Amino acid sequence: MQAVLSNVTAVAGDSLAARTVSLRIEGTKIAEISQDALPPKSGELLIDAEGRLAIPGLVNAHTHLPMVLFRGLADELPFDEWWKTRIRPVEATLGPEEVYWGSLLGLAEMIRSGTTAFADMYFETDAVGKAVEEAGVRAVLSYGIVASELDQRGKEELRRAEGAIVRWNGAAEGRIHAAVSPHAVDTCGEAVWREAIDLAKDRGVILHTHLAERKEEVESCRAKQGASPAAYLDRLDAFSVPTLAAHCVEMDSEAIGVLAERGVTAVHCPKSNAKLGMGFAPVAAMQKAGVKVALGTDGAATNNRLDLVEEMRMAALLQKGVSRDAAVLPAREVLRMATCVGAEALRIGHGTLAAGSEADIVLVDLERVHTLPVYDPLSTLVYAAQSSDVTDVIVGGRFLMRDRELLTIDEEKVKHEVKRLAKRYRN
Ligand SMILES: [Zn+2]
Repeated sequence: MQAVLSNVTAVAGDSLAARTVSLRIEGTKIAEISQDALPPKSGELLIDAEGRLAIPGLVNAHTHLPMVLFRGLADELPFDEWWKTRIRPVEATLGPEEVYWGSLLGLAEMIRSGTTAFADMYFETDAVGKAVEEAGVRAVLSYGIVASELDQRGKEELRRAEGAIVRWNGAAEGRIHAAVSPHAVDTCGEAVWREAIDLAKDRGVILHTHLAERKEEVESCRAKQGASPAAYLDRLDAFSVPTLAAHCVEMDSEAIGVLAERGVTAVHCPKSNAKLGMGFAPVAAMQKAGVKVALGTDGAATNNRLDLVEEMRMAALLQKGVSRDAAVLPAREVLRMATCVGAEALRIGHGTLAAGSEADIVLVDLERVHTLPVYDPLSTLVYAAQSSDVTDVIVGGRFLMRDRELLTIDEEKVKHEVKRLAKRYRN
């Protein structure tokens, strides 16, 4: 695309400072950002974006995309009952058709709420990848390995994980990358973990896992391994591979120290943790210790949305409430978690709007009745805006949504197919 966005309030550069600029997109990249008006060259589209805020594309650093199919299917249950007796049995019935349509529904929801990249962990990875390829976003895809032993089944899980890497790493003109995702310390045995770590090393991809989400998980790890999940995985040398560690709720100072020292990115999922009754991740303490903290929604079976605009607000509000400190997790820091930190962890650039960066840009209408007046655009974005204020989404210089209309997904068809498929999951 060749275009100039004029009169736009852009959250630009590493400082995430908001200022009114003109922004030129050439091909897949941002060519120029200027405080002076940029006259369009011949053939360039001129888009007057007055009243709109331009932010870097939001990065959902932990989700299970096709689980939108189970949105609201099993709410308000204890974790074990939720997972083992409700979710796993219906997941066992999923095939590529269900995963494909579910993925497109989740992608439509994410694009509508300003997400341009995400890290996923699920199965039927080819169906997820096909949907991502069509939708036009960026993704780090993985097959979620669940295996207590390195028996025939465990080996088959690892084979599937490797198959997903072979098929998807570097696919869709480089928009898709792959990861290795051993599910958690209590759902994968040590031999499985060792193989998974070696696979990530051999293939040069990141690790993506759940870490210290639940009290029981941490207690069983301490009983069996004599260490916290973070210290145990460090002992297995997991963190010599760049790692996304989702949740990090039950963290003591030693575990926080391991993540800080080893450069692990914790992915904060405040809504999922709250809804499952897990508690609150010590985000302020982790950041203070130097841990990189990104933001994720987790799956829609526990959120129940894939909406990072809402997730930013929940992260800021919950951390302030739990810390009894209004200064904790300011708006700029929450936006940094949802953009720069996530983008770097997914290895898709710096997540900033700057000349030379990939043109992954989200426009948000701040001139709504629930957002005016605007004194501080970042405050308005995090504390007042909602995802339906997102008007335009650009990934790699291509519009995926223009004036709230999705351009790469047939929304009505997707809704029809998901409603049809969901009939089989009703109790
Ligand atoms: Zn998860």
